[in-house]
Amino acid sequence: MVKEYLKETQPIVYKLIQRLLTSDHINHAFLLVGIPGTPKKETAVFMGQSLVCKEDELACEKCNTCLRIANNNYVDFLYFDGEEKLFTKDDAEFIQDRFSKTAFEKDGKKFYIINSVEKSSPKAMNALLKFLEEPNNTIAILTTNSAERVLPTIVSRCQIINFKNPNPDEFMNIALTSGMNDIDSYIISNIKPDINMFATSEEEEYQLALNGAKYFIENYDNLYSVLYYFQREILLTDSSKNAKIVSYLLEILGLFFKDVSREFDSEYGWYSKLVKKFNKKDYSSIILLLVEAKDKCKLGIFNTSLILDQLMYQIIMEEKND
Ligand SMILES: [Zn+2]
Repeated sequence: MVKEYLKETQPIVYKLIQRLLTSDHINHAFLLVGIPGTPKKETAVFMGQSLVCKEDELACEKCNTCLRIANNNYVDFLYFDGEEKLFTKDDAEFIQDRFSKTAFEKDGKKFYIINSVEKSSPKAMNALLKFLEEPNNTIAILTTNSAERVLPTIVSRCQIINFKNPNPDEFMNIALTSGMNDIDSYIISNIKPDINMFATSEEEEYQLALNGAKYFIENYDNLYSVLYYFQREILLTDSSKNAKIVSYLLEILGLFFKDVSREFDSEYGWYSKLVKKFNKKDYSSIILLLVEAKDKCKLGIFNTSLILDQLMYQIIMEEKND
């Protein structure tokens, strides 16, 4: 449930939403601001539900109305996701056109969400601004990773809701109390602390990456065997999964070398044992190579197996020179 998740991880945001949405004069535009991984999209939907749900002070997330909004099946609600498709001037005009008509649903409230609004064309931002400036009874819920990338005139018309950066320790506690094992709890709360952390722990891609990282660490004195392992166990899997596995793998290895460097003392099963067993030396050059490989993955223009092969050869050369 988004409500419980917000109360636990973003209590200030939760209280602010509660205050804003139960007031007699609800703002006509909201801008949710937070780094990637903060639950902006989920909160935007929750706010939309809260505007019309009759079952609870905020959204109950269970009633027919709430479910229809979650499934994007509520007539007076439009959803756009800049992460999936650039928000265009046509989209802005579509909102305007649709909402110039009377509401279809009996509640009468009309609202729309634009997730990652910074991913809009300049023309779309201007059209959106014009629509925000007009008096109309629609409510805009916009989200962004960075308010600096949104037209200042749009920002100034919105009630800003700032998300705090995820705190790995808090996520670790949530994971542990919900029964996730200590190694997964530690790793996921550090590499991907978000609302999907439980789904992540069950993902095949994550499990393969974790096994790969463990193999890498255990066989660090024989990096060629690691290279063959990666080629066999990771790169030969379904190519649609490769990029995700490699990105997890790089995150886990980055975390591990950081923990070795800071002589991290914990009791998380094999992970902690390997951290303690590892040669205490300076791994900053290896960490840097991992970061570079991660950046290449993010660009999405390089072949995943090429990135991983190249990284392995770079690490082998680096260790040889030592
Ligand atoms: Zn409801």
